[in-house]
Amino acid sequence: MSFDSLGLRAELLRAVADQGYDQPTPIQQQAIPAILAGQDVLAGAQTGTGKTAGFTLPLLHLLSQREAPRGPRRPRALILTPTRELAAQVGASVTDYGRHLPLRGTVIFGGVGINPQIAELRRGIDILVATPGRLLDHVSQRTVDLRGVEILVLDEADRMLDMGFIHDIRKVLAVLPPQRQNLLFSATFSDEIRTLADKLLNAPVPIEVARRNTAAEAIAQTVHPVDRVRKRELLSRLILTNDWRQVLVFTRTKHGANRLAQQLDDDGISAAAIHGNKSQTARTKALADFKAGRVKALVATDIAARGLDIDQLPQVVNYELPQVAEDYVHRIGRTGRAGNSGAAVSLVCVDEKGLLQGIERLIKRRLDQVVVPGFEPDPSIPAEPIVRGGGQGRGRGNGSGGSRGAAGGNGFGGGNNTGRGSPRGGNGNGSHSGNSDRNGHRSGNGNRPRSGQSASGRPANGNRQRARG
Ligand code: AMP
Repeated sequence: MSFDSLGLRAELLRAVADQGYDQPTPIQQQAIPAILAGQDVLAGAQTGTGKTAGFTLPLLHLLSQREAPRGPRRPRALILTPTRELAAQVGASVTDYGRHLPLRGTVIFGGVGINPQIAELRRGIDILVATPGRLLDHVSQRTVDLRGVEILVLDEADRMLDMGFIHDIRKVLAVLPPQRQNLLFSATFSDEIRTLADKLLNAPVPIEVARRNTAAEAIAQTVHPVDRVRKRELLSRLILTNDWRQVLVFTRTKHGANRLAQQLDDDGISAAAIHGNKSQTARTKALADFKAGRVKALVATDIAARGLDIDQLPQVVNYELPQVAEDYVHRIGRTGRAGNSGAAVSLVCVDEKGLLQGIERLIKRRLDQVVVPGFEPDPSIPAEPIVRGGGQGRGRGNGSGGSRGAAGGNGFGGGNNTGRGSPRGGNGNGSHSGNSDRNGHRSGNGNRPRSGQSASGRPANGNRQRARG
């Protein structure tokens, strides 16, 4: 199938061609016609599937076809995302795909000064990409008027609920006009998500693309059993002997990420850590260095890595397995993106057997276990409880590392593409350092047990506690 057959206007097809996309991904094939037809959509799709273009392209099409209402220019489309990095990336996509259209948009999120955002909103925009907390700040200050919203997108809705945004979402919904098109994208479908979807969506078109669970099968996945204390040594060995030049390494905690990056550096492997306690400048630099190949290993926490769009990432390492099985799928989804091949290895010690079982239940397959010669686990070592990252995220909301799509400011779009270094997010120069939209209270959800089901309807797995990274 080609993009031409989806019914998108010529300016959008041109923008798609500018991106070098040959054909729509499965989610795009399904979502674009449904959205163009004005229908609500409930889509099960993860990052890496091309979901952003799946909603952005038809949204731009619809807004550009419709006559703008009279009166002050105010948002006609609202895209809510859980993290500012995702907001920035979605904003970058809106800019990319909307570059040949006279629509204006902006990205707003917390942790940065509110005044430039107010100024940007005052200039009048059509598309607003926002994280919920900061959006509500604007609502309460009356610096944004959401009464003109025709299309609402909840992106990564499951993650928004995980992060405790449900009340904020409800408050946002309360100020939107009742007549609107609603699009909900979520990687997983817990009862909470289904309740939200039932309330929000009107006869939605259900769209389920191959979950990363299945796509994940295309990614080579290996488990290396190893003793807890020898993981670092094994990781260095793997990087050096395999000559990995770009490897994204996951740890459970910010502290662990820092320590590991330092240790890799000590081993002669250029490494940087990316997590919510790092200043934005440090995070932006780490990501830029990693993308440019100046840093071989980027050590990240789950939240930090979420939304990072690093094309063709060849190698992902789970230095520690995630507490929440779904995060494994998100992590390995960083590699082999949009059809590229990739490999994921997990260094698993005796403490993590339960977590591994949970992951295998979720992805419905056993992972190959390969003991690296010289790193045979000592069977006499007893399992220890896993130290959680609790407390590290306290008071900081949900730290997430990465990038901003728009250099130095919040604006994007406006018919041209100036002021941005790269077509994809990740090269912004934001100098902010806060983490969450608003202060504090949300971070308490870091250890909230999640319940629910995966998109495939399977019951969620055992240990749902999440260490915030
Ligand atoms: P997303 O799932 O929206 O985060 O997109 C993941 C990646 O796929 C991004 O790097 C997009 O630029 C890329 N992408 C989106 N649509 C296509 C397409 N039709 N063909 C190839 N790559 C795509």
